[in-house]
Amino acid sequence: MKQQTLAIIKPDGVARKLIGPVVSKIENEGLSITAMKLIRMTKEQAKGFYKVHEGKPFYGSLTDFMSSGPCVVMVLEGEDAISRYRKLMGATDYRKADPGTIRWEYATDIEKNVVHGSDSPESAAFEISYFFNALEIV
Ligand code: UDP
Ligand code: MG
Repeated sequence: MKQQTLAIIKPDGVARKLIGPVVSKIENEGLSITAMKLIRMTKEQAKGFYKVHEGKPFYGSLTDFMSSGPCVVMVLEGEDAISRYRKLMGATDYRKADPGTIRWEYATDIEKNVVHGSDSPESAAFEISYFFNALEIV
């Protein structure tokens, strides 16, 4: 099934000049980028984006991190884009990520793990609309 998913290169990835390598992996996987921009979230915007994690012990630190610098936000499209991009990212904890995945190759920390990807069609719909309006998606 053709799907869209929301991908983010997190502030650690942008600061470490990993935009190119991450975009290469996405393109090599055969996913299409149908929207893309560089943004900097406020703390409040990061809290809204991650509201599903409100109350968890890492929520405060995560939303500080996500608002600490610019991010690249993208819409990816393709057959089974949600699960394919999750697989390409690797496990949340980079120490458990499969070889060749983005987090296996580049993540340095369970929090500073370079990338985000939606985990379901419902979260993809919410997350895409959080950053993009219809006119911004080709
Ligand atoms: N995170 C963290 N500590 C944890 C779990 C998650 O700092 O124990 C951070 C990490 O940056 C992760 C994000 O919170 O990517 C969202 O967590 P989630 O479980 O949704 O992981 P993801 O979907 O990004 O793999
Ligand atoms: Mg998640």
